[in-house]
Amino acid sequence: MAMANLIFDALFAPLRGRETPLLLLPEGGLSGDAFYRMAARQAHALAGLGVERGDRVAAQVAKSPEALALYAACMALGAVFLPLNTGYTPAELGYFLADARPRVFVCDGARAVALAGVAGQAGATLVTLDGDGRGTLADLAEGMAETVTPAPCGAGDLAALLYTSGTTGRSKGAMLSHGNLLSNAGVLVREWRFTPADVLVHALPIFHTHGLFVASNVALLSGAAMIWQAGFDAGAVIAALPRATALMGVPTFYTRLLDEPALTRAAVAHMRLFVSGSAPLLAETHVEWEARTGHRILERYGMTETNMNTSNPYDGARRAGTVGFPLPGVEVRIMAEGRAVPVGEVGVIEVRGPNVFQGYWQMPEKTAEELRPDGWFITGDLGMRDADGYITIVGRAKDLVITGGYNVYPKEVELLLDAVPGVLESAVIGVPHPDFGEAVFAVIVPQKGAVPEAGAVLAAVAGDLARFKQPKAAVVVEALPRNTMGKVQKNLLRETYKGWFD
Ligand code: AMP
Repeated sequence: MAMANLIFDALFAPLRGRETPLLLLPEGGLSGDAFYRMAARQAHALAGLGVERGDRVAAQVAKSPEALALYAACMALGAVFLPLNTGYTPAELGYFLADARPRVFVCDGARAVALAGVAGQAGATLVTLDGDGRGTLADLAEGMAETVTPAPCGAGDLAALLYTSGTTGRSKGAMLSHGNLLSNAGVLVREWRFTPADVLVHALPIFHTHGLFVASNVALLSGAAMIWQAGFDAGAVIAALPRATALMGVPTFYTRLLDEPALTRAAVAHMRLFVSGSAPLLAETHVEWEARTGHRILERYGMTETNMNTSNPYDGARRAGTVGFPLPGVEVRIMAEGRAVPVGEVGVIEVRGPNVFQGYWQMPEKTAEELRPDGWFITGDLGMRDADGYITIVGRAKDLVITGGYNVYPKEVELLLDAVPGVLESAVIGVPHPDFGEAVFAVIVPQKGAVPEAGAVLAAVAGDLARFKQPKAAVVVEALPRNTMGKVQKNLLRETYKGWFD
């Protein structure tokens, strides 16, 4: 008997012979069997390019059925899937490719010329996959065998490398194993009661843990179907709800849906579950959602390195402003000065369990700073636990900005701003934004005698930053507020500019 491949056997092998749809698309359904065959063909195409067990396969591609099949194909080969944000610039991609040294890099055909250099420098073979599923990867896959024998992969073998932004400007590759992903998917299927009768509206990107692992893995493991939408469009989501049972989204989805008059009780009559995560859901949104739809949003908390850690209960009170309880098998402790804090007090959240990643790719020092030898991971999030055990996230120890569900580390943006002629220094903060939750905001200090114009400074850095990282606004000030230790007091800046987007 062939050795097991944890993820492929659990998520993809069962699709073989399934005639019911896995993906519901605007142009019709794609059956589980058709998806399985697509993944098998791609696996053979990748193998033909030399991809072997343990090799990285990087992809910066639009969301499509073929893009999800690429994930499946990597799992079949025992390769490590490395999805990249579609907003990354060639310079940003150059860093990831040089760091991860993938065997193959898959990108949109329209970017192939621009990215050939960075792929070549990293020793990766470049193939293309366009949003419509065409490209040189599809050409290679055509006519390939439609079954695949998965390479053996156990709990500790790597399945994915997901890059998080780094506070020092360097991103870190979080190494996620088959065991990490499958254990978490199993827990979420049970906790959130997913069955083959479910139809999930999938409008999240699949280069991030939320869309790829929380949404796709849960649907795949449970035998559910997905209404597969290439991006978030409030009208399209509402139109899908009468055929769906569940939606997973970032808070921005929910605020945008609330702006639509078509969001009514009748529109959600077929739905059983709305899940939110990746950034704090305003209690106000929770309340408004219930008033409009009769449903209480189920908020959960997780991160790239750990998958999901906590969730509000399926049965029982879903408390607005909290992220609920630790998931089964996941331990959570809240620490300050080396000790667990009492109920109601704030500390740094640490987590331990089969969900916690294997460390940062080729960064043993960074790994040692955040992942303790006994398995506790220091999340960097600040939180507290109430007397009933509900956990609330109160802030971030690091000054991470989360805009529309994406993380932006201020340091990376500040370094670019500081390099613009006429700029002495800068501080990048997150300020409340009605649409994005938080918006990236820059406070700029000019060099003596210079008079930089805020808009021009932002324009100067735009080419080097993915759109979601670009400041949405900037001000020029004489000096940054600092404490006696010389540290910039970002809390004061946040206070000053908190009403900017009101
Ligand atoms: P990422 O690695 O991109 O998934 O981002 C993880 C970070 O998002 C966490 O460390 C938290 O700071 C934040 N986060 C995720 N879910 C929530 C939530 N429900 N409430 C508040 N913050 C959250």
